[in-house]
Amino acid sequence: MRAWRLHSQQPLGEEKVPLRLEEVPLPVPGPGEVRLRVEACGVCHTDLHIAEGELPAAHLPLTPGHQVVGIIDAIGPRTPAAAGGGAPAAAPGAALTGAPAAASLTETAGGLEIGRRVGLTWLYSACGGCRFCRSGLENLCQNARFTGLHVDGGFAEYVIAPVDFVIPLPPELGAAPEVAPLLCAGMIGYRSLKVAGVRPGETIGLIGFGASAHLVIQVLRHWGCTVFVFTRSEKHRQLARRLGAAWAGGLDETPADRPGSAWPAGGRPGWPGGDRPARDRPAGDRRGGGLDAGICDRVISFAPVGAVIPRALALTRPGGTVAINAVHLDKVPEFPYPLLWRERTLRSVANVTRQDAYEFIELVRTAHLRAEVEVFPFEALPEALLALKQARVQGAPVLLVGAR
Ligand SMILES: [Zn+2]
Ligand SMILES: [Zn+2]
Repeated sequence: MRAWRLHSQQPLGEEKVPLRLEEVPLPVPGPGEVRLRVEACGVCHTDLHIAEGELPAAHLPLTPGHQVVGIIDAIGPRTPAAAGGGAPAAAPGAALTGAPAAASLTETAGGLEIGRRVGLTWLYSACGGCRFCRSGLENLCQNARFTGLHVDGGFAEYVIAPVDFVIPLPPELGAAPEVAPLLCAGMIGYRSLKVAGVRPGETIGLIGFGASAHLVIQVLRHWGCTVFVFTRSEKHRQLARRLGAAWAGGLDETPADRPGSAWPAGGRPGWPGGDRPARDRPAGDRRGGGLDAGICDRVISFAPVGAVIPRALALTRPGGTVAINAVHLDKVPEFPYPLLWRERTLRSVANVTRQDAYEFIELVRTAHLRAEVEVFPFEALPEALLALKQARVQGAPVLLVGAR
């Protein structure tokens, strides 16, 4: 089969891509595993971080890619029947921690059969036994393995996956390329809404507007939230408005700065400091520097830069939360304590659980969420990564795989 192999980790440039498309042996599933014939695999910022070395690869060469839509085409020998498959097990990963094999199965495993379309996400496996796994936080598992970082991922014609960790994909979700970005961009975005504690009808700020945010805004609109989007790209602002943003602009602006904004000048009436027209307040206040200037209940930052964090806090009301949806972040700068004071919370978002995956897929199904995708042919992975690096992709980039 053909697979993209990362041979060294280094910054990507037009002439310098450390990935090669190679012929490698067809992998064979072991006990508790299935093999997927890959249809499509989403391209994520994390793949870029892995290629460029911001996340150290477990081994080289390595096949990245962790938003895999594929068809089960082989099932490993003696797959434990008690694998749980369709739902997150009470003890996730039991099959990997020595549960005895109940039967020797070759056609079905954990309720999944050959020919079934499933997704493989960033969470390749979790141990099921550590204190995090036992408390519903398998995303923080001390022994977790991540797809395309610790094990070969989906930028290949076939991939091996633990049967307990693949996510069944109902056909009504759509074609494979539209489904792929749901498996990381969508699911981690959904987890960031949970981490931020979003409640229906709240006002939410989104910083950065790429693959994850364009799915998150659809969930927020479904929940009746007002959404402000802060992004540099005019193209991304247009997409944000089309998807229901009440306002889209730069990070140094506020909705109140713009005439015709859905946001009343001066902020939300009834909030301390929110009942005065913006022009009557000190400049620091208008820019969100004052104690009570926060115009958002919660802010989610998708930007891989720490410099936005003080601004994100300034946009957040007392008692509100800033959630950082980034697997890699450079330094967070020093900031004055009043930005955090009054019970604001600053949290990061790490990985996903299978529970997140199931909840999100159900939400996509019932709320009819759709990913906007830019499809690249299998041979064009370097171009897709570069386009992502240069923020030239509208929505989510997806590699169309499909074995020969
Ligand atoms: Zn990802
Ligand atoms: Zn664990």
